Amino acid sequence: MSDIDTLIFEFLEDLLGEGGVEIASIIGMKESTAEELAEETSMKINDVRKVLYKLYDHRLASYRRIRDKTTGWYIYYWKLDMEKAPEIIQDIENSYLSRLEERLEHENSSMYFLCKNNCMRYSFEEAQELQFKCPQCEEQLEYFDNTKIISRLEDEIATIKDRKSLSA
Ligand SMILES: [Zn+2]
Repeated sequence: MSDIDTLIFEFLEDLLGEGGVEIASIIGMKESTAEELAEETSMKINDVRKVLYKLYDHRLASYRRIRDKTTGWYIYYWKLDMEKAPEIIQDIENSYLSRLEERLEHENSSMYFLCKNNCMRYSFEEAQELQFKCPQCEEQLEYFDNTKIISRLEDEIATIKDRKSLSA
């Protein structure tokens, strides 16, 4: 699997769960109805439909519908449509990156204080207001060194930026 395939796979797994990935891979190979998918995966038809709608919501699946001449009902044939996947993954990655950058800014913007019992972490301003006493357990709030968090965030941001510049 290439890097981007791995990313797509992880994304699908997050989005759909394990059974969902199975469905995605089946309709990636052949058009299928929800009933056929339920039979093939032994999943409940409602769960199958949920997966299909989720894929459809994310523009990762499309359907063709045909009216059944005897019943008059529509039959939906689903297939996977991965054309948009790289775009979607880029969106996800971008929003993840900006969340990390916000978080980093937040970590850099203050000193932090932590309750001795680990209840909560407070910024300097908050801790000052609480007179350095934990509002939950009344224990003393102590200076919390966030250099490790900061360097982890910086590493993660650098990794994502590297990957983006490679794929651009
Ligand atoms: Zn506490």
